[in-house]
Amino acid sequence: MDMANVVIVTDMLRGFYDIGNLKNPRTGRIVPNIVRLLEKKLQGDWRAVFLRDSHDSEDKEFEMFPVHCVKGTEETSIIYPFGNFAVSRKGKRINKKRYSGFFRTGLGAFLRKVNPQEVIVVGVCTDICILITVAELRIRDYKVIIPKDCVETYDAPGHLAEEVNEWALNYMRNILGAKIVSLDEII
Ligand SMILES: [Zn+2]
Repeated sequence: MDMANVVIVTDMLRGFYDIGNLKNPRTGRIVPNIVRLLEKKLQGDWRAVFLRDSHDSEDKEFEMFPVHCVKGTEETSIIYPFGNFAVSRKGKRINKKRYSGFFRTGLGAFLRKVNPQEVIVVGVCTDICILITVAELRIRDYKVIIPKDCVETYDAPGHLAEEVNEWALNYMRNILGAKIVSLDEII
């Protein structure tokens, strides 16, 4: 029955883009690429899952990171160009409170139902929610594809985005067995 491939769009939210403590201008670099990917794939037999950080106001994660994406705030809004995809028949929004898209969410059940042959993962941050969610996908034996021009992370002291992106992509390829490609190779 229900048989489709899946794009997981991770944390493409205003709180990781243009407002709040974790706003990140680098997120803007991948927005048009992810739009191109979704426009192409959602014409075919694909579904898109929008993972959305949605924290409690006293979340434990705020012992490590500045307060961000508290449930119900504007920071948890999906970035404008993706709004229509997210609410379309082919889109699905899944809230999460941790790096993993699987932890206490409906993602596992959704993927078991759809039974995708491949899962494309895009969004932010390459070394945090992307990496942990890709590890969880690979533990469950899903075939994972990551277009490297559709993932990003942030610049901070001791955390240089260019280096971190490269490290995380290599790790996901060499250790987790994800396939790393460019967007043009898959659309
Ligand atoms: Zn968070």
